[in-house]
Amino acid sequence: MKGFAMLKIGETGWITKDAPACGPLDAICKPIALAPCTSDVHTVWAGAIGDRHNMILGHEAVGEVVEVGSLVRDFKVGDKVLVSAITPDWGSLAAQEGYAMHSGGMLSGWKFSNFKDGVFGEFFHVNEADANLAYLPEGMDLGAACMISDMVPTGFHGAELADIQYGDNVAVIGIGPVGLMSVAAAAIRGAANIYAVGSRKNCADLALEYGATRIVNYREGDIVEQILDLNHGFVDKIIIAGGDNDTFDQAIRMLKAGGKIGNVNYLGEGDYVKIPRGDWGCGMGHKQIAGGLMPGGRLRSEKLARLVMANRIHPEKLITHKFQGLESVEPALMLMKDKPRDLIKPLVVID
Ligand code: NDP
Ligand code: ZN
Repeated sequence: MKGFAMLKIGETGWITKDAPACGPLDAICKPIALAPCTSDVHTVWAGAIGDRHNMILGHEAVGEVVEVGSLVRDFKVGDKVLVSAITPDWGSLAAQEGYAMHSGGMLSGWKFSNFKDGVFGEFFHVNEADANLAYLPEGMDLGAACMISDMVPTGFHGAELADIQYGDNVAVIGIGPVGLMSVAAAAIRGAANIYAVGSRKNCADLALEYGATRIVNYREGDIVEQILDLNHGFVDKIIIAGGDNDTFDQAIRMLKAGGKIGNVNYLGEGDYVKIPRGDWGCGMGHKQIAGGLMPGGRLRSEKLARLVMANRIHPEKLITHKFQGLESVEPALMLMKDKPRDLIKPLVVID
C-alpha cells in the first residue's frame, strides 16, 4: 500500500509498504476522511519526538473497517467508524490508574504517527478495536466526525485539566482548532468570562461564536496586561492551546492563587519552560499546572459525538479548506505547516 510518510526529520514523501496485519483484538480500516494536525508539523519539522524513518503520518481519521480480528465483538467489515487519535492499551496498569494515554510509557497511548504507521495510508491498523473505535453516527458531517479524532477531545481535555467550573473567569491562550474547542468546552462547563487569545480573524470570529466573551490579540501588546485589565484582576483558570515555552510565565502571572492551568499545547522546541518564582508564590502559590495528552478511547469519542448530534458543539465549523483524494494529504499537511491566515483546519475526503 502507499502512504504519506515522515522520511526523517524535516523530510516527507510517499512510500510503499506492506498493508498492516490484523491481530485478534484489532481492526484494519481504510480512511474515509483525514486531517493533518499541528502535531504532525512538530513531529516532522521540529523533530519534537526524535527521528522517525519512513513512518506514515497522520492520526486524525474517519474510517471504514475492512478486517477485524477473531476476538473483536462489536465491529464488523463495512462499519464506518470514528477513530481516536490516541489508542491506548486498555488492560495496562497505566490505564487502570486513569492514565491510559501513557500506557506502555509516557505518551505511548499515542501510537499513530509516533510508534507505528499513522492513518495517511491506503489502510491503517487500530489496536483494541472494541475500545478504540466508535460507530460513526448516521448523518454526522464528515468534518465534525474527523474532528472527534483529536481536535474536540484535546480541546475538551484542556478544560478538564484546568478544571473549569461554572462561574469561572477563564483565559484560553491559543485559538487554533484545539483552543477553539477549549473555548467551546469552557462555555459548556459554565465559564463566566472567556478571554480568547489569538490573532487570526476567522479564529477570533469562531471563538466568539463558540462562547468567548473577549478576544485578546497577543500581537497588539502583553496579554497579561490586557487580560488583567479586562478581568479587573486575576483569572481563575487558564487553558493553554498555543504559544511557546514562555507562555507558562504569562499564565502564572495572570492566574489567581489557587488557580489552575491546563496545558494541551505540544511544546515542540527548547529544553525548559520558565516559571516565574515570585508570581508562583515562591513555590507556595497553589497555582497548579497540569499538562496532558488527551485521553483516547471509544467512550470519549461516543460522548463527544453525542454533543455534536445534540447540536451542542459544532466542530465542522473548524474546517476551512477541503481536499479530495488520499494524495491531497500532502498539500493539506503543507497548508498546516505554512498556516495561511485564513486557515483553521483542512479536511481531506477520500473518494
Ligand atoms: P494552531 O497553530 O492552529 O493554533 C495556535 C494558536 O496559538 C493560534 O491561535 C495562535 O495565534 C496562538 N499563538 C501563537 N503564538 C502565540 C503566542 N506567542 N502567544 C499567544 N498565542 C499564540 O495550533 P492547533 O490549534 O492546531 O494546536 C495547538 C497545539 O495543540 C499544538 O501545539 C498541537 O501540536 C497541540 N496538540 C496537542 C494534543 C494533545 O493531546 N495534548 C493533540 C493535538 C494537538 P494566531 O491566531 O496568531 O495563529
Ligand atoms: Zn492531531
